[in-house]
Amino acid sequence: MPSVNMSPEDLQRILEAVISKVQQLNPLEQRTYDEMIAKERRRDLLAVEVGRAEMAAQRAKRDGCSHKRYNATSGKLSGQSAPKSATGNVEWCTGGQAYQNGLAMIFCSRCHSDWWFKPEQSYYTFIMQNGLEGIEPPPDKESICIGCYEVKTNCKCAEISQEYVNAHPTVA
Ligand SMILES: [Zn+2]
Ligand SMILES: [Zn+2]
Repeated sequence: MPSVNMSPEDLQRILEAVISKVQQLNPLEQRTYDEMIAKERRRDLLAVEVGRAEMAAQRAKRDGCSHKRYNATSGKLSGQSAPKSATGNVEWCTGGQAYQNGLAMIFCSRCHSDWWFKPEQSYYTFIMQNGLEGIEPPPDKESICIGCYEVKTNCKCAEISQEYVNAHPTVA
């Protein structure tokens, strides 16, 4: 979503210009304009819905996966998916790395979920050198939503996209 830096005065000016322009339209133009706005609004609302559905699907996939596999000492089972309840001869089937922006990411090689977080400096340096193999994914309250950069439990993505839709002009 492109971000626009605009003062309330600028916005007011633009809206007034749009409104006066709209008022000049003949009935046929007005109808075309109304249809265009209505279409844009449907598209924006759909995008919000699709975004929500995608997030829900991702969450369901993530919650359905243990992110664990049986380790090398598990004989025939080794390397296979382990249930969430499994303890002992299991390991996290995760990998990950740190990035220049100070964030690190852990992913599950099975459900392809990813968890972003901001490690402390010493841990960051460690990750830079060693990567992240077989590390337990952080809980939501310690991982960052890469859409809005809030902590996941405080994710603002749905609100932001809803505000975006609400900010669009609507046809009365
Ligand atoms: Zn997983
Ligand atoms: Zn978010």
